[in-house]
Amino acid sequence: MLIIQHNLFIWSGSSEKIISKKFGELVLMEYIWSFLEREWVDAADKSILDSQTKFDEVSNKVAKALKNTGGFLNELAGNEPIALPHTLWFGILDLAQNLIQRSSLIATYGLCYYLAIESLNRAPSSFIQFKSIELLLHLYNIDNKVFSMIEIDFDQYTQKLSENNLEDSLEKFRNLLTFVKEKYLEDLKILSNNTGKGKEGKGKNLNQNSYLKKEQISNSNILDVIADEITCPISSEPTDQLCILKCQHMLALSNLKKLKQKICPNCREKIEDNDIRYLPQNSIYKNLYTKFLNLDIFYLQLN
Ligand SMILES: [Zn+2]
Repeated sequence: MLIIQHNLFIWSGSSEKIISKKFGELVLMEYIWSFLEREWVDAADKSILDSQTKFDEVSNKVAKALKNTGGFLNELAGNEPIALPHTLWFGILDLAQNLIQRSSLIATYGLCYYLAIESLNRAPSSFIQFKSIELLLHLYNIDNKVFSMIEIDFDQYTQKLSENNLEDSLEKFRNLLTFVKEKYLEDLKILSNNTGKGKEGKGKNLNQNSYLKKEQISNSNILDVIADEITCPISSEPTDQLCILKCQHMLALSNLKKLKQKICPNCREKIEDNDIRYLPQNSIYKNLYTKFLNLDIFYLQLN
């Protein structure tokens, strides 16, 4: 996974411009989605309690081991190797967080936002909850206008927990949310102290209620941007199978096959078969498809 990311960044960063940065990010996002999709299926198979118990067990073990630091290594060696469940899931969310840092594409932010939301909703343990919250706070820190709805998302999540009578989980999640927010603020402080400039302005109100805009902010904007990225200019529909042409324009594979003249419908550059790059977006498309449909309904209502 990391190797794929590394290669893509080198690839897209090279002066030859074999693939554009945007293309690289879209490919990477598709990978991330397809990996997490598998994790979600796995998680759905097991009960929430199962994973949470396992998680508590492991974290207790770590806490115990940390208390008597003297025998720390012995303790670790004596026990079975510590295997936190869902480390891959956690790692992928971390990768997404990393990607946000380097990216300037709103579509990438948006895809990471939905990644975090879906992960939070399916989170089998506080381990994943923690990372999802962190990712959302991170997005908020990058653009607090676009991602001003995260507080509503947290509210909705807690509401969901209380509706399902998961009092324990609810209490745990509230504590976790406070904890992660505080931790994130600390991290920001350290960052801004180190660089001596910049970021403190953006995130400073994070733990005050002043930034909690209670008005219903529609997240259709982000969806719109994502949909745009995977929309074929011929059919004007989001699609799961795109092709990138040499001129960096793209169109749906199915429409490429239908072209009578092999020229780019956008800039009329001749299409050479060797220069077509296939860009699958199956996982992203599959997971966001219903949201795109709602988007259409949303716009129908507007008009
Ligand atoms: Zn073109």
